[in-house]
Amino acid sequence: MKKIGFIGLGIMGKPMSKNLLKAGYELVVYDINEASVKEVVEAGATAGTSPKDVASKTEVIITMLPNSPEVKEVILGTNGVIEGAKEGALVIDMSSIAPLVSREVAEKLAARKIRFLDAPVSGGQPKAIDGTLSIMVGGSEADFNESLPILKSMGSSAVLCGEVGAGNVTKLANQIIVAVNIAAMSEALVLATKAGVDPEKVYQAIRGGLAGSTVLDAKAPLILDRKFDPGFRINLHIKDLNNVLETGHGVGVPLPLSAAVMEMMQALKVDGHGDKDHGSLVLFYEKLANILVERQ
Ligand code: NAD
Repeated sequence: MKKIGFIGLGIMGKPMSKNLLKAGYELVVYDINEASVKEVVEAGATAGTSPKDVASKTEVIITMLPNSPEVKEVILGTNGVIEGAKEGALVIDMSSIAPLVSREVAEKLAARKIRFLDAPVSGGQPKAIDGTLSIMVGGSEADFNESLPILKSMGSSAVLCGEVGAGNVTKLANQIIVAVNIAAMSEALVLATKAGVDPEKVYQAIRGGLAGSTVLDAKAPLILDRKFDPGFRINLHIKDLNNVLETGHGVGVPLPLSAAVMEMMQALKVDGHGDKDHGSLVLFYEKLANILVERQ
């Protein structure tokens, strides 16, 4: 079994790395947050001292970091993966970042004969814990096939979407659908509540029909329970919508709905909700209508 490096042990990286340990992989891990490293070391991993150190000790290096700047720093920066990785090593970036940055990182690694896949995920923390993430991959078919047993230890599906960058383009499409879905359900539940109908009844009545969705089933119960702990932070969704708008405008695609939800999320950030779950989009609508969506 391949020896794996794992860098970025946050809400997602921690359970994903633990699932690799459960599957029997030997793991060398790194994060700037020492408490997270300690927790995964207690689960059986070894601590590396830098991304370079992790890469020098492993054949496959996985990164699960917030955004493009962190991925560039960890992979291409001083003491980065590129300085330690051996020829033929495979870097799998599972963060959600700008597709153009995935391509830039892949090119720089290829110059040192290091291979690269972008493999962002969908499913959030619960599916990261269960090992049932959906994984969308960009890169060569050979590298994808080689990575499959590793990816399948963290996810229930992994689809090769195209060349490097295609994984992150797919993830941007995913993030548009999720953001607009949460906004639509928030708008609907606020309307129902203010019009005097129990939002729980509305949810139960519509979840099996055309308006039903994975987003509705994941987020409506949390909203009704007033649970806004992340999950997926508003700040991270703003990051994704930034990448959506930049990529869309770059290729000539106007994105009116993404732009609208982006501004709602910006308003929530200004109100101090940036570190709450993206289900807290309902707070934006509640403020407009001066009503709370809660169990009656
Ligand atoms: P997080 O902020 O919880 O974790 C990021 C981790 O990276 C932190 O532990 C942080 O200390 C570490 N880090 C940051 N800079 C570093 C550096 N220079 N060197 C080493 N470690 C560094 O974020 P998360 O929720 O785990 O998300 C990670 C990625 O996965 C993001 O791109 C996010 O958009 C994506 N994602 C998240 C979810 C979700 O529900 N949380 C779902 C799908 C995809």
